Amino acid sequence: MKHYDLIAIGAGSGGLSVVEKASLYGKTSAVIDFDKLGGTCVNRGCVPKKIMWYAAELRQQLNHCKGYGFAATLKQFNWSHLVAGREKYISGINKWYSRFLTDGNIDFIQGKARFLDNNTLDVAGHKFTADHIVIAVGGTPNIPDIPGAELGITSDGFFNLSQQPKKVAIVGAGYIAVELAGLLNSLGTEVTLILRRQHLLSRFDPMLRETLMEEMLNAGINIMSCIHLQSIAQSASEKLSLISQDGSKIEGFEQVIWATGRRPLTLELALDKTDIRVSNNGVIEVDAFENTNVKGVYAVGDVTGRAALTPVAIAAGRRLGERLFDNQSERKVDYNHIATVVFSHPPIGTIGLTEDEAREKHGKTIKVYQTRFTPMFYALTDHPQISAMKLITVGPKEKIIGLHVIGIGADEMLQGFAVAIKMGATKRDFDDTIAIHPTSAEELVTMR
Ligand code: NDP
Repeated sequence: MKHYDLIAIGAGSGGLSVVEKASLYGKTSAVIDFDKLGGTCVNRGCVPKKIMWYAAELRQQLNHCKGYGFAATLKQFNWSHLVAGREKYISGINKWYSRFLTDGNIDFIQGKARFLDNNTLDVAGHKFTADHIVIAVGGTPNIPDIPGAELGITSDGFFNLSQQPKKVAIVGAGYIAVELAGLLNSLGTEVTLILRRQHLLSRFDPMLRETLMEEMLNAGINIMSCIHLQSIAQSASEKLSLISQDGSKIEGFEQVIWATGRRPLTLELALDKTDIRVSNNGVIEVDAFENTNVKGVYAVGDVTGRAALTPVAIAAGRRLGERLFDNQSERKVDYNHIATVVFSHPPIGTIGLTEDEAREKHGKTIKVYQTRFTPMFYALTDHPQISAMKLITVGPKEKIIGLHVIGIGADEMLQGFAVAIKMGATKRDFDDTIAIHPTSAEELVTMR
């Protein structure tokens, strides 16, 4: 039996950030994982996705070259080359984390952790205890329970594709669905996006989802809405067909990608051996300070069922470490002002309430400013993409409670505005900020 001050289960964004703090404050710590260091974000999520997104953006830039006087044409795109470069980059990050653990005297215990009781863990027959145990195991993709579902892949499988699929169906309308649809389409795959409702990105402001839908259709993505799948079948030629509940068939896909949400990866933790409260969908219940109902056991990141975003898990892990080991007893995450970007084409940046949420919460005291324009970059090209922006304010002081942007640069635009909004910026503060010209971002401080 080995004892530590802190053990994190899961070497992803949340787990690594809390052991980092334990080490910083001179505590003994270990992190347990059965997989590579870095978790979903590094190995199967944000990082490889962003590399693919950059490739897709580069492909789109080729469309604009002619208008600017460059005779650039696409001769060849080598998927394997891109994937090899991506994986090499990720392996560099894995190595960096390995050195980081060694330098910080943090033990890496490789294997699956299972609880034996509230404060004891087993990994491959070895027992470990800690004053503080942090559950940071993240999530795993959901796959609908229909016949033939196993013929499809998930985002995990997407990142294992060694060859570019010619024709794919992507089922879902959330972050992963629109991101994979956009980048695959841009790289030359024929994409059909299957929605069960009429719109994309249900939880986002309508301006964003409508503009994105328009741009995805313009880019050649086939979007099929209100489809309720009944099964998937494979033909003799190994092509996949989707059969919907009304009996119609959509055929000829090399891959079907499930992008139908994620659930916490708590099933194999043997939580039934503990008193830790878990909801039906596997979410570990925590308070605002990431405490579970069991003393000395905490949970951070996707497993807590709140904003499932890497920086949120990192912030939660770091603040928990500061609270436990640096006497910062009130340190916790503010889950109210979380900026998020969807790496679609064009990208989306959003923070705060949607117009519907704002209206429901504040009624007639809200005021909405909105603009839609073609960015100057497209002045000389034949392939313009629209930008749209919305500010939502409340009360006579017009405090900004929602900011939504879609268009080139939205991904890099949002972070600074998020600081302003977190600090309580008003429309007047935006109006009093001198615009940077000519940019798209200046529209956010010049709206009437
Ligand atoms: P999301 O929660 O974003 O979306 C899930 C989607 O699945 C919804 O559109 C939902 O449809 C659809 N869906 C669920 N069940 C079915 C079904 N049976 N048939 C058809 N559609 C279904 O999940 P994702 O998987 O896209 O991503 C998981 C999480 O990962 C995100 O919520 C986000 O927190 C994080 N993430 C963040 C990224 C970023 O920061 N850029 C990138 C990728 C992921 P409906 O809308 O109709 O309910």
